Amino acid sequence: MHRPARPVTTFDATLAALAADMVATMYAAEGVGLAACQIGEDLAIFVFDCPDEDGTEHQGVVCNPVLQVPEGRDRSLDDGDEGCLSYPGAYVSCARPDVARVTGQDLHGEPVEYSGDGLLARCLQHETDHTSGMVFGDRLSTRLRKKLTKQMESQAADYPPSWPVSSD
Ligand code: ZN
Repeated sequence: MHRPARPVTTFDATLAALAADMVATMYAAEGVGLAACQIGEDLAIFVFDCPDEDGTEHQGVVCNPVLQVPEGRDRSLDDGDEGCLSYPGAYVSCARPDVARVTGQDLHGEPVEYSGDGLLARCLQHETDHTSGMVFGDRLSTRLRKKLTKQMESQAADYPPSWPVSSD
């Protein structure tokens, strides 16, 4: 998962089927977002279904995501807990900008844009990271990364080795 995913260039039924599979896997794993690399597909696409600060749910599919977050004095950080379906059962604090915007393409290749605050801002950043070959453990201090690994190991018995891929 530590390399940039291939850009999506073909917007066809195969891509739509992949997105549908990703959505099903995300719901089965009770996650708020999932990137293709997490189910072994080397493509820059993610899906999400995630609430913002007000609790409003946002759903979408983004191919070839490009992230924009505030810089300089406009930037304020939220250090809430973060988890990842690739680190099952583990949650640690991870500071990120509290608002984010992602632009990209939908399943037909048309431009899409999603933005928001709260958990949605965290999710958009986290999933875009996945498509560029970064997992959130990479953003943590050594101490927090150890905490993350420890939590994950202590929960390992609850998750099959194929997680988060569904077994059917
Ligand atoms: Zn993740």
